Amino acid sequence: MSASRYLTAERLELQAAARRFAMEEVLPVADELDPERADIPDHLLRRVAEMGYFGILIDREHGGLGLGVFEYALIAEELARAWMSVASIIARGNGMGTQVGDPARRAELLRRSARGTWVGAAALSEPGAGSDLANVQCRAERAGDEYVIRGEKRWCGNALNADFILLLCRERDPEPGEPKARGLMSLIIEKERGRLPEGLRAKPIDKIGYFGLTTFHLWFDGLRVPARNRVGSLGEGPAPKGRGAFNATLHGLNIARIHTAARAIGLARGAVEDALAYAKTRVQFDRPIASFQAIRFKLADMSTEVEAARAFMYQVAQQCDDGLPVEREAAMVKLFATEMAERVTSAGLQVHGGNGYTTEYAVQRHWRDARLTTIFEGTSEIQRRIISDRLLGERST
Ligand SMILES: Cc1cc2nc3c(=O)[nH]c(=O)nc-3n(C[C@H](O)[C@H](O)[C@H](O)COP(=O)(O)OP(=O)(O)OC[C@H]3O[C@@H](n4cnc5c(N)ncnc54)[C@H](O)[C@@H]3O)c2cc1C
Repeated sequence: MSASRYLTAERLELQAAARRFAMEEVLPVADELDPERADIPDHLLRRVAEMGYFGILIDREHGGLGLGVFEYALIAEELARAWMSVASIIARGNGMGTQVGDPARRAELLRRSARGTWVGAAALSEPGAGSDLANVQCRAERAGDEYVIRGEKRWCGNALNADFILLLCRERDPEPGEPKARGLMSLIIEKERGRLPEGLRAKPIDKIGYFGLTTFHLWFDGLRVPARNRVGSLGEGPAPKGRGAFNATLHGLNIARIHTAARAIGLARGAVEDALAYAKTRVQFDRPIASFQAIRFKLADMSTEVEAARAFMYQVAQQCDDGLPVEREAAMVKLFATEMAERVTSAGLQVHGGNGYTTEYAVQRHWRDARLTTIFEGTSEIQRRIISDRLLGERST
């Protein structure tokens, strides 16, 4: 199917609105606040909520836009074109942290998620559990109708400003012979935005990019969580009707990988657009550098790479919405788009010459943020493992 076949009139309209919002309202804030390493300001979060972007995947009955993964990716690309952290924050709404047992509570949380008043943080990784997530050691001990949490988490983005933290923790050790992941569960830690609950300490991690969303190291020392906050399964995004917990988790991982591909494509497109504009105005040897073949061919290669990744992403997102298995393809598009973004943003920086290596131009932001996309949401090496295991008919552990 050609890209234009995927882009119905409704999708084009959605894309145009997201593009306008990103370029007019997100980009100026990113240009101002990213150099200050500041978080996404409240007024911008409110605007993201008003646009409905915290509820793209939530059905209309619960106040969402009732759209699919395709539209989610379409919007994420536009937001990341301006500031990756804004494209990331929408994944902390869109049904994350709503998979509680009680249907009435679940409905209320879905409504809040869609409104942008139930925006979370994911505490999965630990100092000793990154790619090997099944090695999680953070403990949840049952005490009456509560769990008591002790342990450490690393890399928890948005922990302070979140309305809740989705915690992956261990209820028991696996029995001999059982897989390491046995005994793991997730809990929702409800909290007040801007504050930490008793029994939790946090320290920001000093990153080289991905500003707008502060990332924390967390220490749990006796934090108490009501047992009713145990959730059935992991994964971002609501479980589609009729899916079991395991399939819902896989579905959430697939969506996260497609969403990350979309973010990478947005960053790479930013580098192409910025490099084109710069090449037309920067004069050396009495002519714009855009007249040199070395620069023109670089721009041609950059643009081709972005288009190829986007076409692949459209295909995988549509397959996901059509209910087809996409585990291998989601890993492929995450791998392909993020490695593409690293190359293309670096080339875009090169086109800017010395100016590219300053905070006066946005291209360094696209480059620093793109560098992360091959690491988080499963590194490139882990995506290659998933793909090769599927090719060889094996299951990744
Ligand atoms: C800025 C940032 C934000 C993040 N945000 C979050 C968040 O909000 N919530 C959260 O829970 N986590 C978050 N993460 C964590 C992220 O998902 C992990 O960093 C990532 O999964 C890699 O884990 P690791 O850093 O421990 O690297 P490691 O797992 O230690 O990997 C080190 C290297 O070894 C390779 N490697 C590891 N195992 C294998 C293998 N079996 N085969 C081949 N190669 C292998 C890796 O690919 C990598 O190159 C974030 C990370 C960063 C940097």
